[in-house]
Amino acid sequence: MGASRYYVTTPIYYPSDRLHIGHAYTTTIADSLARWHRLKGDEVFFLTGSDEHGQKIERRAKEAGTSPQAYVDAIVATFKDLWKRLHIQYDDFIRTTEPRHVRVVQEIFQRLEAQGDIYRSQYEGWYCVPCETFWTESRLVDGNCPDCGRPVEWVQEESFFFRLSKYMPRLLEHIERHPEFIQPESRRNEMIQFIKSGVEDLSVSRTTFEWGIPVPGHPGHVVYVWIDALTNYISAAGYLDDPDRFQRLWPADLHLVGKDILRFHTVIWPALLMALDLPLPRQVAGHGWILTETGKMSKSKGNVTDPIELIEEFGADRIRYFLLREIPFGQDGYFSREALIERSNADLSNDLGNLLHRTLSMLHRYQEGVIREPGPEEPLDRELAVLATGAFAAMDAKLQQLALNEALEELWKVIRRGNKYLDQAEPWALARDPAQAPRLARVLYTVAEALRLVALLVAPFLPQTGERIWHQLGLSGSVHQARQDQLRWGLLPAGTVVQKPEPIFPRLERETEEEPAPEPAAAPAPKEAPKAAPASEEVPEITIDEFARLDLRLARVVAAEPVKGADRLLKLQLDLGAETRQVVAGIAQSYKPEELVGRQVVVVANLKPARLRGELSQGMILAASGPDGRLGLVTVQEELPPGSRVR
Ligand SMILES: [Zn+2]
Repeated sequence: MGASRYYVTTPIYYPSDRLHIGHAYTTTIADSLARWHRLKGDEVFFLTGSDEHGQKIERRAKEAGTSPQAYVDAIVATFKDLWKRLHIQYDDFIRTTEPRHVRVVQEIFQRLEAQGDIYRSQYEGWYCVPCETFWTESRLVDGNCPDCGRPVEWVQEESFFFRLSKYMPRLLEHIERHPEFIQPESRRNEMIQFIKSGVEDLSVSRTTFEWGIPVPGHPGHVVYVWIDALTNYISAAGYLDDPDRFQRLWPADLHLVGKDILRFHTVIWPALLMALDLPLPRQVAGHGWILTETGKMSKSKGNVTDPIELIEEFGADRIRYFLLREIPFGQDGYFSREALIERSNADLSNDLGNLLHRTLSMLHRYQEGVIREPGPEEPLDRELAVLATGAFAAMDAKLQQLALNEALEELWKVIRRGNKYLDQAEPWALARDPAQAPRLARVLYTVAEALRLVALLVAPFLPQTGERIWHQLGLSGSVHQARQDQLRWGLLPAGTVVQKPEPIFPRLERETEEEPAPEPAAAPAPKEAPKAAPASEEVPEITIDEFARLDLRLARVVAAEPVKGADRLLKLQLDLGAETRQVVAGIAQSYKPEELVGRQVVVVANLKPARLRGELSQGMILAASGPDGRLGLVTVQEELPPGSRVR
């Protein structure tokens, strides 16, 4: 497929306050799409910025005893800092106070006035003097200002108006002819209803404040937000400065906005573009809200949503992954630390981190860390290769529908298949037989090559993770420089020396309070002797899929000691092959610590970590409980490598 051009925007954010997780959400989506198109080899222009004028800024600056420009300069610096920490790679950051933008706004205003699309009239409404704000009748509370509760007065202000109503029939026709123009579908219907209900001309200037772009030729008037802010999408693309570039970039492919400002982008903005005789953006997409727990923000409540704090605690990629994976585009999503930790442990630590760690560990254990010339390919290998090479097209199709969560799910199919492939191909068994060396080389090649593709495909969404996998695989250069042609199977050269595995997503501890229950061992050794439960009594049936959610692993006990002040608990260090874990088990009344060292046990490896008596327990070992409360640890007959899957 030929490379093309891709122009994506976020809204320009208002610097009256710091940004929150919702802004991070919009911008992460835009950044991921931009990076995806760079991978495709497209000419990408990713624009974000700040909307810096208006009465609110003027007032806040006054309260702070500073100038509006100094006020916004300081806050815009925090925007840029956040984007850097979140690894947002924008191509341009437009500020509406920049001369390149001011010039465009003034020229547009004059042009629309000259052609009769802007006219002078009276703006009427209820006005709150202390708040300096106009209110519509319906917003008043008992006839008073909804903000401060004081009486409002009916005032008339001279204002310029844009003939918005004139363009509504043409806009309606455009929306109806281009089903892709407004996304998602439900919002499109809302906008059609809104337009059909009747749209009035729009007040586009103010005389009540000064912090804005002066209306040319009309002292005392400043341009109001509509023309000032929306036009950033063309001023940054070179509308006046660079007509050739503008020709190449415009119209934008995607304006990404929150659902609250979708109307401005699908009614006012297209009408302004029509009046300027410019083509309309291909698509405006409104995403949902990120909902957080109500009430006071506090770490212990788990509702801190300051993106900088979250990035510092969890790392940018965990935040990006959660936002992209957890919330279907267009719907509202719920953010909580607990959900973030769960998502991260399940998908990033267990699936992705494990696959990388297992692969590199075995390459070091069996092949001195070298990718060897692989033996003949077998159907099992082919299956993983086909899935991995097909992932790009599958993900691209989902991304064209803005289904970012489903695109990631497509990629995770490859990652999960990679783990299953290792379980099936059993490299540890092959390693015992020197005659199987070519087969072993093929298996390790196949999984490493799949990981190379995973690095390329995950990088647009999780930029640091893609890079880290790339480097651990011993590949040179940056994953972000790679293009689509690198996605062919078999480009990983034999002879590549991989790095020692470094965990890319250490499991996060779940934030549980100090709780006495649940006991980590299967049987809590009750005080009174219980009857051994007859099989299948009172335990509902489960499906094979439900069983498959348990990650049971063989582990070797490398150390065991009592837990202070807990006569039933032992603290065990378990070797799981790729990692060592601490598990606290309620088996002290049946086993002495020294009896356990060297034993093979079966551990539920994907159990959420918990703290017991202050000790971290990352899993649970299995035991049968007899009628007298005595426990018997579950083990396997054969000596098998630690980490072997049990099922
Ligand atoms: Zn008021």
